[in-house]
Amino acid sequence: MRLSDELAQISKSFKNYASRLEKLEIRKVEDLFYHLPSRYEDFSLEALISSLQPGEVVTITGTVTKLPNPYTNFARKIQNVEITDETGSIEAVWFNQPFLLKTLHKDDKISISGQIKSFKGKLVIQPTEYELIYEKGERLHTGGLIPIYPETRGVSSKWLRRQIHNALHKTEEVENILPEKTLKKYGFTSRKESLLKVHFPKSVKEAQEARAMLSFEEVFLLNLRMFERKKSWEGQKVGVKIDIENYESEVEKFIAGLPFELTAGQKVAWKEIKENLGQRKPMNRLLQGDVGSGKTIVAATAIFLVFKNGLQSVFMAPTEILAEQHYQTLKKFLTPYGIRIGLVTGSTKENKKEEDFDVLVGTHALLEKNVAFKRLGLIVIDEQQRFGVTQRGILREKGEGVHVLTMTATPIPRTVALTLYGDLDISLLSEIPKERLKIKTWLVPPEKRVGAYSWIEKEIRKNKSQAFVICPFIEESESMQTIKAATTEFETLRKNIFPKLKLALLHGKLKPREKEKILTDFRAKKYDILVATPVVEVGIDIPNATVIVIEAAERFGLSQLHQLRGRVGRGEKQSYCLLFTDSKNPQTLGKLKELEKIHLGTEIAELDYKLRGPGEIYGKLQSGQKTLKIASFSDFKLLEEAKKEAQSIFSEIEKHKPLQNILRKDHETILPD
Ligand code: ADP
Ligand code: MG
Repeated sequence: MRLSDELAQISKSFKNYASRLEKLEIRKVEDLFYHLPSRYEDFSLEALISSLQPGEVVTITGTVTKLPNPYTNFARKIQNVEITDETGSIEAVWFNQPFLLKTLHKDDKISISGQIKSFKGKLVIQPTEYELIYEKGERLHTGGLIPIYPETRGVSSKWLRRQIHNALHKTEEVENILPEKTLKKYGFTSRKESLLKVHFPKSVKEAQEARAMLSFEEVFLLNLRMFERKKSWEGQKVGVKIDIENYESEVEKFIAGLPFELTAGQKVAWKEIKENLGQRKPMNRLLQGDVGSGKTIVAATAIFLVFKNGLQSVFMAPTEILAEQHYQTLKKFLTPYGIRIGLVTGSTKENKKEEDFDVLVGTHALLEKNVAFKRLGLIVIDEQQRFGVTQRGILREKGEGVHVLTMTATPIPRTVALTLYGDLDISLLSEIPKERLKIKTWLVPPEKRVGAYSWIEKEIRKNKSQAFVICPFIEESESMQTIKAATTEFETLRKNIFPKLKLALLHGKLKPREKEKILTDFRAKKYDILVATPVVEVGIDIPNATVIVIEAAERFGLSQLHQLRGRVGRGEKQSYCLLFTDSKNPQTLGKLKELEKIHLGTEIAELDYKLRGPGEIYGKLQSGQKTLKIASFSDFKLLEEAKKEAQSIFSEIEKHKPLQNILRKDHETILPD
């Protein structure tokens, strides 16, 4: 057996289990080995029958000395079997497992782990696990620490234990991933040893050590792959040449012509981007900045410079609404300089050729084959975590040596960022444009709802401002149910609550043209209130909107609420966020109340991180792809160490053939990121 063998090819039993195992993402021998126990049952206390005490969890071994007649009604319900060792006898009692009486025979040697109970003045053992002992005396399910696995219907821990055990013993060669000297340096056992120990440890300490080794191995490999990607990215192609010197003063003029002064953070980010562009290797930079920190204008400046060099840019966003908005923004800032901007979404069928544009803004539709460029210089990807590695790869293939700027508003703690995006350069916009006021945030209980509505109406009239009402988050996707709920909410608000105001409804199932029209009209102040499903979450920028109401706030995560809140507070006026909730749970209310006090995305991320744990938030950052399976993002020290080690090994990779092979195999299977 080899690690790469498909289980279904190995045996009939695996073949029969294939679809069930698929649910646990187990396909190959290797997957089976890396299906690690979620915990262990401690059955290490072995006791003689004469010394048992009620309440103890123990393992006993002995001989089956008495079985009930399997054909009685009683024996179908209760299976009491007498076990005898050299010191005495005890009854083992199972319930509703009549088949047991067919498997067990008199004189069988048996080992049972379970709890000792007192029953009608007599001690009995209630088995959790049992197994027959054959000549070799080997035990797997009783005695010692017994692994408990993530299970699925029809795949029990007992079954997994047996299969993993057999497979581990039948696989002679499990090649080490970590080089010999790394294993030595950290005192790790070999890969095979570690796998054996994590599944079948002799002690808790042994299990922990084995898991530490496997975590290290995982992060080490992740980093190595990242370094490899970075190297091939930098080495393989020469970056598109961008002349900076000759256009420096024009860029300065462009920046000076903006209606505001760049924040210090924007200036630094632009300087870093400019430095990348000036080099003869393609840029690969992530611009991370809280909602409203002004990432778009930084990207626009880069686009301006690229245009001056006679090159095209593409700007990809995850939703049509967002693409439309970026299209409008870029038009506003760039057309005065003669830059021609086009829009490509699923629904816009531009008849014009790509060559007719200097900038193409769009959604996934940009990835299609027939969208081709003659002289592509820069790719900007907004909200990059919403796109997968493959999608980013496809876009990159549209030009040679293209510079890439990805942007995200997801605040990521530094260690996590370095682990996930170690192959990228990172710029951080840590501040919000200065004249901005904090968004006043209130948690509104049901009894204050009516008062809140009349306050909103007054606010809109007094300041000639506008409001968003975000409908409850019902399902992940924009399902019919979500839309129905939004429509009902919209009708109620329009007829009963705000009959004198003008309201519009925006949801994901509207035709793009309709969406576009609603947003344009809202921006032009033809509506006072925009009722929307949570799709507006990312990026929408309407500076005149000063109030946002979020219905059923308890259904959102804190970071998500913060993103939504960021839809207001974009202009100079004081803005407000009203969190509506019917929840009575003090913990939920306490969590939501934090938003009244905390206004920095990074702080909110940290709180979220504490409340939900890093795994849940960052584990699936890359559009559903799980990034770390064994190691934990909260284990900073391990992340750092494994990265350092990977770095030092990578610099002498030619000495490590097996590692080179692993990295080479990656190249054949995935697109370069
Ligand atoms: P995000 O980083 O969330 O994508 P945007 O790029 O949409 O933020 O910018 C948010 C708003 O802030 C926009 O209306 C933009 O014009 C404005 N803005 C950007 N930079 C500045 C600045 N330096 N000073 C004032 N307003 C700015
Ligand atoms: Mg944005």
